[in-house]
Amino acid sequence: MSKRVEAKITCPNCNHQFEFTLYRSIWGEYPENRELVMSDKINVTKCPSCNRSTKLQFPFIYTNADQHFAVWWEPEYDAQIDSDSVGYAKMLGEGNYLATAPRIKSWSEFKNTILKFENGELKGKQGTMSKEMNDQMQGFLKHLQDKNKKKNSGCMGVALILFVFSSSLLYGISKLIF
Ligand SMILES: [Zn+2]
Repeated sequence: MSKRVEAKITCPNCNHQFEFTLYRSIWGEYPENRELVMSDKINVTKCPSCNRSTKLQFPFIYTNADQHFAVWWEPEYDAQIDSDSVGYAKMLGEGNYLATAPRIKSWSEFKNTILKFENGELKGKQGTMSKEMNDQMQGFLKHLQDKNKKKNSGCMGVALILFVFSSSLLYGISKLIF
């Protein structure tokens, strides 16, 4: 699934406040998602009060799991991407396409980079889960199972995973600039 984040938007034109759901990541192997990016419609809000459209300067990652590449659009430096990349490298191995995804500031260059990956001018690597990560996962799963047996409730562990996962998505709402 593409990751999406709820945000409260203040219209730069009329100050009307409204809710909007931003993409933090988008799965480009789906044609409708690719189109959303290529037609400049991704993360564009329309104010329900004055109808003004605004393209939000919110960094997101474009991924294509079929062709093994990913590209960040990073209009402004985003420290969360540093730690995301470290996390991807740990999970999927150094050099994996998610860990080494280029971080592009310019919107048109961002789209060009996607095209270069698609036509083979640039290549991403699939990577493999590191042995260390694999061992950790196995250990963690076993730990959960043991806990389950004892307490008949693994909810805490699952809740913790979900919390860690979702907290990485919540970044940056405060950084939105209008
Ligand atoms: Zn407005």
